[in-house]
Amino acid sequence: MKNEDAKERTLRIQGKDVELQAGFPVVVSCMEDVEVAIDEYVDQYETAPDTFRRADVEDETVPHVCGECGGTGEIVLLKEKGM
Ligand SMILES: [Zn+2]
Repeated sequence: MKNEDAKERTLRIQGKDVELQAGFPVVVSCMEDVEVAIDEYVDQYETAPDTFRRADVEDETVPHVCGECGGTGEIVLLKEKGM
């Protein structure tokens, strides 16, 4: 599942506000698909995503399911601003 919203967003991760780079999606993946998800992110957006554990992301707008297979979302791929 992908969030194509190009507006700037902030996600609360491990108690810290993380500003997201505008134009880059938030992608959720299970453990099995995370390598594929990272490869696709790099292919599509020409940048390596920052990865966080889903459990550390305190934001209910971020899906809990893998965008590839619909399984349990474990990893969140995003692009942190200024990284
Ligand atoms: Zn999956």
